[in-house]
Amino acid sequence: MLVVVVLLVTVLLRVAIVTAVVYLLLPQGPLCPHCNFEMVAIRNRFVDRLVPLLERRWCLECGWDGVVRRVRTARARTPKRSPAPRPAPR
Ligand SMILES: [Zn+2]
Repeated sequence: MLVVVVLLVTVLLRVAIVTAVVYLLLPQGPLCPHCNFEMVAIRNRFVDRLVPLLERRWCLECGWDGVVRRVRTARARTPKRSPAPRPAPR
């Protein structure tokens, strides 16, 4: 029984190492790895929920498409406008 556990752990470690290496080899961010042009994100609701760290992108310039690491970008926030000051009551 111990042999089975040891073999299972080594297999799981291999899977984890391969997954980490593949993740680190993927290009990062919205720029195309070939022409450095900004790529368009291809949305898939199922994949976005299943693997939120990755996204599929397509380059309009050279036609490259593939999976890239998603980069968290600060969302452009619209500054909260305070309501216009009321005129003073008379
Ligand atoms: Zn490109």
